[in-house]
This record gives sequence, C-alpha cells and structure tokens, in this order.
Amino acid sequence: MTTAPQPTSVPPPGLALGAVGGAGRPGSSRIACPLPDGGLLDVGSLATAQRGPFPDLLTAPNLDRLLDAGAPVWREVVDWLRSWRDDHEKAVAHRLPAEGLVPVLPFTVADYVDFYACEQHARNAGLIFRPDAEPLTPNWGHMPVGYHGRAGTVRVSGSPVTRPAGQRAAGDFGPTRALDVEAELGFVLGGPVPGPVPVDDAGDHVFGVVLLNDWSARDVQGFESRPLGPHLGKSFATSISAWVTPIGELDAARVPLPEHRDPALPHLTPREPARGLDVALSVYLNGHRIADPPAADLYWSAEQMVAHLTSNGASLRAGDLLGSGTVSGPDRDGFGSLLELSWNGRDPIALPGGPPRTWLADGDEVVITATAPAADGSRFSLGEVRGRIRPA
Ligand code: CA
Repeated sequence: MTTAPQPTSVPPPGLALGAVGGAGRPGSSRIACPLPDGGLLDVGSLATAQRGPFPDLLTAPNLDRLLDAGAPVWREVVDWLRSWRDDHEKAVAHRLPAEGLVPVLPFTVADYVDFYACEQHARNAGLIFRPDAEPLTPNWGHMPVGYHGRAGTVRVSGSPVTRPAGQRAAGDFGPTRALDVEAELGFVLGGPVPGPVPVDDAGDHVFGVVLLNDWSARDVQGFESRPLGPHLGKSFATSISAWVTPIGELDAARVPLPEHRDPALPHLTPREPARGLDVALSVYLNGHRIADPPAADLYWSAEQMVAHLTSNGASLRAGDLLGSGTVSGPDRDGFGSLLELSWNGRDPIALPGGPPRTWLADGDEVVITATAPAADGSRFSLGEVRGRIRPA
C-alpha cells in the first residue's frame, strides 16, 4: 500500500462529456465538457453560437438525446468538440461560471447490467467463498457472466452513500457490517437497436466509459445469493463518474485481451481479435491509495458483453450501463475490493491515522481515479468517482 498521491488533486479528465446543474435546482442542468484548466465549457451554448453540429441534441439537459442519436452523430460531435476544446481563446465566451454548479447524473440510466469479467477477481471470490472447489465456475470462461442491477439507484460521483440495512443472516436484519467497494469500468451504451447485436457491430453502440463503484453489502449479499445472484446487497447504490470519456478517446489504450483458455462461441468471436482497454485504476480510502487495479486484465471486451447480453434477442436502450465487474490485478496491491484486500476480513488493511479496516466505516470516503494512454504516449485522466459513507 502507498499513501501518495492524494485523490483530492485529481486532474480534470481529458475530452469528456457530462452535465452540470445549479445546486438545489433540479431540472436546470446543461451539457458541459471539462477544460484542461479545470473550467467547464457550455457545450450547448458553443454549438448554438458557432453553428456546431446538432445543437438540438447539445442544448439538452443531459446526454440522453445524444446517446439516442447513434455512433455517426457521436463521432461528428466529438470531433467538433475536440477542435474547440483545444482552442481556449475561442471557447472563452462559452465558459460556465465556476460557482454554484455541480455535476449531475450525465444520462438517464436505462438498464444496468454488471458483469464479472475479471479473471483474477472471479478467482479470488472463488478461493474465498469456495476454498475446496475449483475457483472459477464452469461457465466463466465460456461467456461474460453478469446480472441485472438496479438502474434507478445509479448516482453521480460525490453523492453520499447511506449504509444500507438488510438481512445479514437468518432472523438478523440491520445495517450492514460488511460494506465494500468494487472498482470497475462502466460502459455507456446508445444507438437503441433490437437484439441480437453482432459482436462486430457492438462497438457502434458503446458511446463511452465511466468509472464505476459497485457498493456492496457483503453480509447481505452472502445470505441472499443462494442460489440466485446479487440483489439487495448491491441494489442500494452504484456510483459513476460525472464525466463520460467517449470511446474514441481511448484508441491508444486498446490492448489485446488476455489469452482465452476456452474457445469462444461464434457470436462472441469478432473478425478482428477482441481488444480491451489499458485503463489504470486507483482506489483511495480516506486519501490513502489502497489499490491500483489494471483494467487491461479484463478477460472480456465491452463489445463481447454487448453481443452476449443481446444474444437472446434482448434489445439495447440508449443509456444502458454495463459494469465490467470488479477489476483486480494478479497481486494484492491490484485487488479492487476490500473483500479481496482484507481476504474477507482475515487481513485488515492498515490506514495511517486511523484504525485498520476490513470493511468501510461510517464517514469513510472512497475515491476511484483512472488514467489511460494518449496518442502521444502521455497518460490522461478519466476523472474520478467519489462517495462518502453516511450512517444508517
Ligand atoms: Ca460488481
């Protein structure tokens, strides 16, 4: 574990889109793009004044209408925005005032599916909960395993998270004693279409990437998940970053997927080898970095997740959100959950200036940050997803 850098100084993300609104004034939001100096660009104002593309989509209160419009429109908008964002002088008239604006949820989450696409995390969970069995379940290498989550409780970075209550054991209902984080990538989908979506077309439905924290109540999850999957142990809250990085900004981050041990079925096999994303996550607890999970280790690509979840004919909606599943690297300092870092409570984590942690305490603040390689070899920020625990 290392204690630097502090997550209070997360740089603004690279080219990204989100929405900001007046604090306490719901319904007043508008689309914004962070500027390199930490300011915000009023995207709708710029599009209207400069006769940019699709001003009707960009003067909307959030990204919903843009997500509905599909990949050709996204590419045109992002190319236009890039040219303006890099020209601070010309964009200055369309800066938003720094005071009184807060990020709001950047899009209305339609359906939310959380996958389980990191082999190391799946292995760790297997070793912890089924120590006498093969760590990976028989299906794991054959499909991107996932479950349907609760779209209505996805919230924007900075929103507090109240410690949930639930059934911790038979006859035992109360606030969770095992509140956890899961560091994940989130894929934001658009271009609604009936399923199935061929894997070679799936990339046209991935608008961009957010950072995602799948808050988890391990005691509730453990008692309820036999034999079905996660339910109330996770549905109380999922946090995403305020800014969505368009997928085209991550071209230089594309990397080969880890070698697959099981042959994938044709609908999960693209013509060109599937590629993942070299996004380096970091997890901070009360300002101390406790893990650096590498998303390049994800076993399944976003495109394979889209192909899988629509392979039964299920349709895609604009605003669908896919979680990658907890990202964990091969060593302890890459584990993306306290479940793994503390090995289910066996090995508490030392925190400078406070008692050791196995699970989250009331008042704890978790921040997940990330960087990805740019075309020039530097790395840019994908922003942060932040949340503080409120007492039950
Ligand atoms: Ca998860």
